[in-house]
Amino acid sequence: DQSVCAPLPVLGRDVTVPLVTGGEVTYAALDYAASAPALQRVWDDVAAYVPYYGSVHRGAGYLSQLSTELFENARRTVAEFLDCRDGDQVVFTRSTTDSLNLLARALPAGCQVFVFETEHHASLLPWQHARVTFLDAPRTPAEAVRTLERALADRDPHGPALVCVTGASNVTGELWPVQELTAAAHAHGARIVLDAAQLAPHHPVSVRDLDVDWVAFSGHKLYAPFGSGVLAGRADWLREAEPYLAGGGASRRVTRREDGGVDVEWHDSAARHEAGSPNVIGAYAIASACKALTDAGWDTLVARERHLIEKVRTGLADVPEVRVLSLFGDDAPRVGVISFVVEGWNSSHFAAALSAEYGIGVRDGLFCAHPLVRTLLGGDPQTQGECGAPEAAPGEKSLNAIRVSFGAGTPDEHVDRFVRAVRELVSDGARWTYRTEDGRCVP
Ligand code: PMP
Repeated sequence: DQSVCAPLPVLGRDVTVPLVTGGEVTYAALDYAASAPALQRVWDDVAAYVPYYGSVHRGAGYLSQLSTELFENARRTVAEFLDCRDGDQVVFTRSTTDSLNLLARALPAGCQVFVFETEHHASLLPWQHARVTFLDAPRTPAEAVRTLERALADRDPHGPALVCVTGASNVTGELWPVQELTAAAHAHGARIVLDAAQLAPHHPVSVRDLDVDWVAFSGHKLYAPFGSGVLAGRADWLREAEPYLAGGGASRRVTRREDGGVDVEWHDSAARHEAGSPNVIGAYAIASACKALTDAGWDTLVARERHLIEKVRTGLADVPEVRVLSLFGDDAPRVGVISFVVEGWNSSHFAAALSAEYGIGVRDGLFCAHPLVRTLLGGDPQTQGECGAPEAAPGEKSLNAIRVSFGAGTPDEHVDRFVRAVRELVSDGARWTYRTEDGRCVP
C-alpha cells in the first residue's frame, strides 16, 4: 500500500543472525511488546548529549547545571506528550512495574483497589498489601464497564478507591474502554491509573481527555531503551505519601533531634519519589522518543500500524491451524500485538523455528499475564517460570502462546516474512527438532 508511510528509522535494521539452515539473514524484530528497538533519533540525541553528561540536581559545574536542565526539560516534554493537566506531576521511574509499585506505596490508608484478572502482572500484583478486588475477565468492552460498575457500587463509598486498568493488552493487543472505565470509576468516587505500557507506543495518550488520574509507561517499549519509565498524574496522593525511596534528593531538610533521632522534611515535588542520582540518560531518551513520535504524527503512525496489523491478521486467517487469541472478538480495535496458538504445535517450538529457520524474533510463553492466558487458552497453562516457556511434548495441546508484535520501526518485509514463515512451517513442519535445553528452545 503506497499510501502508507515508511517505517521510522530504528537501530538494529542491519543486524544479521545465523540460520540453522545455513547462511544468515537480517533479524526481524517482532517482539516490540517486550522491548522495542531504539529510534535512530533517540540514539543520535543521546549520543550528542553523553559528552555533556553530569550529575543532576547536585553539581555547581556547568555540565551538572546542563544535565539538571535537560532532566527537568524531559519532565516537561513528557507532560506535554501525555497532555497532562496543570498541577500533574511527572515522576521518572525505572519502568511501568516500578511506576505502579510506587503508586501502590502511595495509596491512602484503607484504599480499596479494583483490578481485572486480565492484567499484566505489573498491574495485577503491586496491590497485594491493600484491599484488592480482582474482577473476572470480561468478554466485551461493555461488559468490562458493567463489571467495574457493579464492583464499585458494592464498595464502601466513603473510603478511597483506585482502579488499575490497561490501555492495550500485552497479550491480545486489544484496546480497553479507558474513557468509559474512568467515567465509571469517577462516578463512584474512585480514582484510576492507566497502564499505558502497550498503549503509549501505538496511540496518543491524553491524560486530560481520558480523564485518568495517573498513567504509567516504560521507555524501553517506547523506542527509548535506557532503563527509565514514567508515572504521571495527580500530585495529591504522591505528595502525601512516604517517599518511595528514602535518600538524597528526596529530602529538603534533615536534622538531628535532641533524642538522637533524625527529622526529615521531604520534597513535595516529583523529587520526593526519585531519591538517588536519577537516570538522566533514560529520561532524556524518553523525551527524545516522545518528540520523535509527535513529530512523525500519530495519524501517520496509526495508519501504518493498521496496515501491518491487517497484513498479519489476514495472513494468519489464511492458515486454518492458527487460532488468534482474543477476549473482545476479532473485530475489536487493537494495537500491533497479536498472540496465537498453532494446532499440533508446541508454541515454544514454533517460536524457536521462527527464529532458527527465518531469523524472526517473537515471544512465546504466558507473557506475565497468567490468568488472562489461562482464560484465552481455556485451560490451565503450565506456569513453570514466571514468564518462561513451559515444556510440552510436540503435538501436545499448547500450554502457552506465541506473540508477534511490531510498531513504528517495522518494515513490511518483516511481517511478510513472518506470514510466509507461519504458512511454511504449518504446511511443511519444521525441518529440525526443537527441544528445550536450559529453558531455551534450540535446534
Ligand atoms: N504492563 C504491560 C501491559 C506490559 O506489557 C508490561 C511489559 N510487558 C508491563 C506493564 C511492565 O513493563 P516493564 O517490564 O517495563 O516494567
